[in-house]
Amino acid sequence: MLQLPSALLEQLQNYIPTWWLNPKQDHSAEMFRSLPLNAQDIAQASARLKRFAPYIAQVFPQTQAAKGLIESPLTPIPNFAKALTGFADCDEAPQQLWLKQDNQLPISGSIKARGGIYEVLKTAEEIACRETSFTPQSDYRQLAHPDYQRLFSQYQIAVGSTGNLGLSIGIMSAQLGFKTTVHMSADAREWKKQKLRDLGVTVKEYADDYAVAVAHGRQQAEQDPHCHFIDDEHSHDLFLGYSVAAERLQLQLQQAQIQVDRQHPLIVYLPCGVGGGPGGIAFGLKQRFGDAVHCFFAEPTHSPCCLLGLASHRHAEISIRDLGLDNHTAADGLAVGRPSQLVCEMMQPLLDGCYTVADETLYQLLALMQQQQQIQLEPSALAGAWGPVIWNRHAAELTAQLGLTAQQHQQATHLIWATGGSMVPEAEMQHYIAQGEALLQSRNV
Ligand SMILES: *Cc1c(COP(=O)(O)O)cnc(C)c1O
Repeated sequence: MLQLPSALLEQLQNYIPTWWLNPKQDHSAEMFRSLPLNAQDIAQASARLKRFAPYIAQVFPQTQAAKGLIESPLTPIPNFAKALTGFADCDEAPQQLWLKQDNQLPISGSIKARGGIYEVLKTAEEIACRETSFTPQSDYRQLAHPDYQRLFSQYQIAVGSTGNLGLSIGIMSAQLGFKTTVHMSADAREWKKQKLRDLGVTVKEYADDYAVAVAHGRQQAEQDPHCHFIDDEHSHDLFLGYSVAAERLQLQLQQAQIQVDRQHPLIVYLPCGVGGGPGGIAFGLKQRFGDAVHCFFAEPTHSPCCLLGLASHRHAEISIRDLGLDNHTAADGLAVGRPSQLVCEMMQPLLDGCYTVADETLYQLLALMQQQQQIQLEPSALAGAWGPVIWNRHAAELTAQLGLTAQQHQQATHLIWATGGSMVPEAEMQHYIAQGEALLQSRNV
């Protein structure tokens, strides 16, 4: 029997947007100690990215201004805040609404440039240290030398993906010289596959969904000792690559003079697929800000895998298919039916909640974001933008459950994590915007 409230189950089964608040949050030191990853692991990942920064700045000149750190802007979006309030018929606009623009992350234009690239770099570092005189104290720019490319070309990197992870890993590993295979699910956009083929990456296509692509990739990689499989359902390294975002964000918040403490909570809305990206970031944020930060996962109504896994406590043991859901969504980055076991374990005590949003709403928010802020995002990246509406509509339950006063609820800073968009071809983007505008108009007549 499923341990889910019957109203929630019914909404999920009928693709009705819904939400779930985590009743069992725990920010105690014992809980943090009991988790499989800790603050020191994040610090090591951060240090590794710093070691690689001179190399990254050299081979990807677009990162030179940031000295080889792959980071995105934090942007205030007051016009969108006002428009959202009107659109969703809310009482009031959030006073402080910010957009974390991972759509502009250099190299691959999505949140996957955090975790995916990190795991490729770590793999290269391990091989270089094992097979040559390279050490963590070496000059990492050497890794661009043809000798190292030849070394890496004896190894293969493989990954299963709905698109963006394959793109990030493909670009990075092709740059280093690895042979690369990306196993793409049926949702993956054609342009993403083409871009990878142009880089010399082998793209294997599956008519089935993400879990199938991953399973095939994993199985093929197991037979080859020179193949490293990047496993989005289990990888600690991917998770840690994402988690480094928290220290970077903390710095940006300080620079923008945004206060974050119990009196001025930070509310973060993260689009969620298998969970690694949002989970890593939420973990990093909880390590840094404790109960002054509240994190919510946002999923399409057709793919609510983390909501289901966490609310039922069944984690990766349950798939949305078990409820008869189809996993068909325009938010290709979020089209995942079964969550990561690692992420569910890490998030069960830490996450504040999850909500679902209809594809139609994603398109409308996409058009609103373009109209109000001239920021172009892919559909997946808008899932977080519905969060402030949930916050406003369910104020009473939220404040009661999270132990916030009305003042704390009102003083919150809201952060929408915009997870991708800048790599989408112009024609495709115009199509998304037109679809969103048409939906907005049909609603107004
Ligand atoms: C992958 C992806 C996400 C979610 O990350 P997961 O690690 O799969 O949960 C969100 N948005 C976009 C655009 C993505 O590509």
